[in-house]
Amino acid sequence: MSKDENNKAPESGRRLFLKQSFLAGVGVSAAGSLGAAQILEAPQGAAPSPVAPAGGHNWEVAPAPIPESKITQTLETDVLVLGAGIAGMGTALGAAEVGLKVVVIEKMRTFSARGMHNGAIDSRVQKKAGIRIDRERVIAELVAFAGNRVHQNLVRLWAEKSGEIFDHFTDLAEARDMEVVLTDTFLVGRKFPDLYPGYTTAHTFVKKGAARSSGNEYVPTQEYFLGMMEAEAKAKGAQFLYSTPAQQLLREKGGRVVGVVAKSKGGFIRILARKGVVVATGSYTENPEMVNAWCPAAAVPEVKIYTPFGGNTGDGLRMAMWAGATMQPLPHPAMIHTIPGIGIDLMAGNQSFLQVNKFGQRFGSEALPNQTLYNGRTLQPGKKAWAVFDSNYERDFSTFKTGFDGPVLEDRAALEASVKKGLALKADTLEGLAQAMGVPAGALKASVARYTKFAKEGRDQDFGKEPYLMFPIEQGPFFALPIKSCLLVTVGGLNVDQDMQVLDKRDEQIPGLYAAGNAMGNFFANEYPLHCPGLSHGRAVVLGYILGQRLAKA
Ligand SMILES: Cc1cc2nc3c(=O)[nH]c(=O)nc-3n(C[C@H](O)[C@H](O)[C@H](O)COP(=O)(O)OP(=O)(O)OC[C@H]3O[C@@H](n4cnc5c(N)ncnc54)[C@H](O)[C@@H]3O)c2cc1C
Repeated sequence: MSKDENNKAPESGRRLFLKQSFLAGVGVSAAGSLGAAQILEAPQGAAPSPVAPAGGHNWEVAPAPIPESKITQTLETDVLVLGAGIAGMGTALGAAEVGLKVVVIEKMRTFSARGMHNGAIDSRVQKKAGIRIDRERVIAELVAFAGNRVHQNLVRLWAEKSGEIFDHFTDLAEARDMEVVLTDTFLVGRKFPDLYPGYTTAHTFVKKGAARSSGNEYVPTQEYFLGMMEAEAKAKGAQFLYSTPAQQLLREKGGRVVGVVAKSKGGFIRILARKGVVVATGSYTENPEMVNAWCPAAAVPEVKIYTPFGGNTGDGLRMAMWAGATMQPLPHPAMIHTIPGIGIDLMAGNQSFLQVNKFGQRFGSEALPNQTLYNGRTLQPGKKAWAVFDSNYERDFSTFKTGFDGPVLEDRAALEASVKKGLALKADTLEGLAQAMGVPAGALKASVARYTKFAKEGRDQDFGKEPYLMFPIEQGPFFALPIKSCLLVTVGGLNVDQDMQVLDKRDEQIPGLYAAGNAMGNFFANEYPLHCPGLSHGRAVVLGYILGQRLAKA
């Protein structure tokens, strides 16, 4: 069905009945749709002030309802999904497959697809590849990693159901000339694998013959998956209204959330949902006020990747709070990585090269998972660190495999190109390199000499790093790569119960209101886990799908 056809749905007779009884709020402005990623560089170490603006936060005071006179159309449905990201798609498909009438509204011109990995356990793709993952162990690790600030049953639901649900998605994909492949990512060959476990959970849905990641490079293929889900949901009757930003939830006084008012071409549209409204509007990554309030760590990375730009402004969270919802307890986690291949960093940012701070000093074992490495750097003066390596780096690189796994992609030409662009520093001597970095030459030379000694002796006496990940740094020219990190998304969301139903200040269910994906809290806490690559997509689509199906009984 075309978008124009979608917009021609009939008006509702319930309009007058509901008219007076809504709690509503001021609309949020509709952001324009941009297809490409927006990569924004923040000033080094800049963190917005954690002080609330005078008069409180804008999610604390419900705005005036959008006047009835501005509402030009009313639709009715069983399930209304706010946001066409991976969570919204999963919810829509799940609901449509059990025969529910579904409307999805999305503020962008199309759905939002990012990255490539989708985490699942016990899929047939994994079984075929001989991969067996101890599910109980994974559940225990995820719960422990979050300090049990999560609903264990939701973690378990993902772990137990993701395999069979992904088998279903795989069937759908294969019927559409696609294939589903596994990628090993973030493999960390640690000496204490129990401390930093990593599982082959990342499924990539890709068109047959199309470019895909071998593991090391960033090839965003997720649009194939979302495109397929959208087509399948439409085939089952779901309506997708794009360029239709939700503005205010409609809640009967003290009672049920019954729908939403959204901006539409030429005015506002009201959509009423008999079974439930699902907030799947994603994270608050782009909303500095929310980041300050709930996840100040997300303000620190030098680079922010907003894709699509304007999507993750926290609209759904704000609307839900106007209707009485609360956020999951702090601390909220964020996905903060070094990401190769998109002009931010070379792979070395993910790898186990020697790292030094602005005093030229080594400050820890570099053999840690990507996000964890980033955390350690934030404790260094000025939050600065460089990876330092010599001209044998291609040999070292092929041994590491500590970030995204796969073949070494950055040959010398790539590194030299980065030097020309000023992304990497190069000098014939360590003194010259220290000068280019702006660090004390004596300290850098001492750090390099000590590291080289440990590498040759096969024992890191300072930080206990695995010897096979250490290489002498002797062969000039020498290189230094300033390490930058990027914020992908925040992953803290609305306070939900074990049924994904949104809770109010008294921890009571708000009837009719549900959340999925990054808008749903209580699945991650403290820190985003890297144990199960693709987990953020995996939990969004699996729990969203299950929620969609369950709404049949709502
Ligand atoms: C560059 C990048 C790569 C990534 N790669 C991976 C990966 O490979 N694997 C992985 O697991 N995770 C990855 N992530 C994280 C992952 O993409 C997110 O966690 C995931 O997309 C969250 O899904 P969601 O459906 O909850 O939210 P989103 O995907 O953000 O979707 C929310 C949707 O709601 C819409 N919306 C917002 N407000 C409104 C409104 N008012 N009205 C209507 N619609 C609205 C938005 O426009 C958006 O389309 C990546 C993130 C980035 C930035």
